[in-house]
Amino acid sequence: MAQSAFQRAIVEPCTEVKKGVEKRARLRRQMYLAQMVSFILDAAILFLYCLSGTTPAFASAWYLAAGVGWTAITLILSEMHFNDRFQDHYLTVPQSLGSIGIQLVAIYFIPEVGLYFVSIIFVVLGFGALRMSARQTGVVWAYAAIGLTAVFTLTNQPIGMPMHSFAERHLALLCFVTALGRCAFTGLYGASLREALYKRGNELKVAHAKIEELAQIDELTGVLNRRYIMRALNDEMARAQRAGTPCAVAILDIDFFKRINDGYGHPTGDEVLRGSAITLAANMRSIDKLGRYGGEEFLVVMPLNSKDQALSAMDRLRQIVSELDWDPISDDLRVTFSAGIAQVRPNDAPEDILARADAALYKAKDAGRNRVMIS
Ligand code: GH3
Ligand code: MG
Ligand code: MG
Repeated sequence: MAQSAFQRAIVEPCTEVKKGVEKRARLRRQMYLAQMVSFILDAAILFLYCLSGTTPAFASAWYLAAGVGWTAITLILSEMHFNDRFQDHYLTVPQSLGSIGIQLVAIYFIPEVGLYFVSIIFVVLGFGALRMSARQTGVVWAYAAIGLTAVFTLTNQPIGMPMHSFAERHLALLCFVTALGRCAFTGLYGASLREALYKRGNELKVAHAKIEELAQIDELTGVLNRRYIMRALNDEMARAQRAGTPCAVAILDIDFFKRINDGYGHPTGDEVLRGSAITLAANMRSIDKLGRYGGEEFLVVMPLNSKDQALSAMDRLRQIVSELDWDPISDDLRVTFSAGIAQVRPNDAPEDILARADAALYKAKDAGRNRVMIS
């Protein structure tokens, strides 16, 4: 069934928002599952340490329960969309505090391989800092520093990384290699964030350029709107006055446009406006500026043209428009315009030159229309 405009206006944006929320939940799920794998990997290494007799039997089981339990809680909260209330939906600060807390407890209770947990704190802080503000990173760093100070002060056990036997040396190697792997992952993650930001920046630039362009254009005719043709008039007048070069301005007004509207209908009137504007734009110099000044009035700014040169240019355009074949729109339709031209004087303000061009336009109308006159 076809959707009504109301449904399109309400349902489509809602669907887009829902899609965004689902995408964020999916990204979080991937992140938390990776974190869970990381805890399982560390628990497996601890299990090997237990087998080699370095650490007590409970170490691996405790670490697995703490790591997986903590990640499971965060995953459940994420799936319940609790995280969506916060600006940083990954909840990086509490995540980092929780993970670092587990490492601090591990250093205290399993000091035999304490340096491994210290290296994991490096990874957690390095990874978290990619998503945290400077202040948040400072807070997490202070928490880790205070925690480490407390643990190092409270324990009287040596905190180390035993390398006495072949097995211990190779388990230490495994610890460092996996920690290095996580550092590499952090680097790659940072690079992907940078790339995403760069892409988003480019998309915004394109969107901004599009908005800029749309803001300049008259919707009906596709030529410059009044605000922008007035800005062009200002700029070109200032340039001509500064450089002492000529600059001419023409106001065009379609003849008997009311009759076209009344006789052929408003939509045909619109088509006449569009067709005339396109014809004018296609037949003028690229440095000339054309804009819609009012209903069926257009303004042309012609830099480097004296009023005589502008007269012949406008007269050529007048002839082209008067000879247009409007048969596809309506039989026996004929469109002409009248124009008044003025040339920029050294101390002119925009109102002055527009008033002179307007006066010339009225002369052209009085003289019978379908003609161009100079002020
Ligand atoms: P003249 O030769 O003296 O200029 O006669 P005219 O009929 O063109 O006179 P006037 O300037 O008074 O009429 C302009 C008409 O243009 C009046 C208005 O209804 C119509 N108009 C203004 N904007 C639009 C538009 O966007 N679309 C259409 N179709 N008509 C418009
Ligand atoms: Mg008019
Ligand atoms: Mg008119």
